[in-house]
Amino acid sequence: MKKNFFIDLDDTITPTGYRYSQVTCEFCHYLYDKLDRNVPFIRELVLLQTDLDLKLIKKQKFFKTRFPYSLVLTYKEVCRKAGIKPQKEMEREIKKIGERVFDMSYYEGNYIEGVEETLEFLVSQQDNITLLTMGDELVQSNKIKTLDLKKYFKKNTIIVPEKNEQVYKTLGKEIQNPYMVGDSKKSDINHSVRSGWNAIWVPMPGGTWAHDQQAKEELTEEELKRVMKIKEFKEIISRYDEIK
Ligand SMILES: [Mg+2]
Repeated sequence: MKKNFFIDLDDTITPTGYRYSQVTCEFCHYLYDKLDRNVPFIRELVLLQTDLDLKLIKKQKFFKTRFPYSLVLTYKEVCRKAGIKPQKEMEREIKKIGERVFDMSYYEGNYIEGVEETLEFLVSQQDNITLLTMGDELVQSNKIKTLDLKKYFKKNTIIVPEKNEQVYKTLGKEIQNPYMVGDSKKSDINHSVRSGWNAIWVPMPGGTWAHDQQAKEELTEEELKRVMKIKEFKEIISRYDEIK
């Protein structure tokens, strides 16, 4: 019988968080170069940016200009604390640094190890595979195009503004034993399992980004039985028989 997989994109198929960390480092470098001792220590600086970014997500969900905007807000806050006037020219430069996360050349062929062979394997088994990703429509569809994901998923790519229980309940309605595969406990695992799905959790080895660390409620013992935790994506092949 065919199995039903819904597979996450960011940090499951391609290393997105790594790119955001790289660009955040570039932003920090830039600030230290330009403002030297006016900039707080690195820990406070990164925490400030993270905090402002999370507030934007909470208020307006995921929108394309959010991340670059969070860097500009961080710069303005650093200026305010140091008692200096923000420069328009620097704001423009910082916005440009932030937009480097949208540079699609980073994603070209940039699959997490073992992902391609696993997707090929699932296709060869004739399983139903659907890409289920959350975020800005344009950004996510650009990634899908750049990674050429249609060769595995065909038309089955879904972009949602948020992955919540409502999304899983609606998508899972007519589907037998749907599995959500992803790195995020908050978005991929907890909500899907609470909606009656099974889940395959592939956490990132270096830990997850701040937004996903906000998974508050834990799953019950009963619910945890429906979560298969794996170290690498390609374990889906070796543990295939355990999947219903
Ligand atoms: Mg993810």
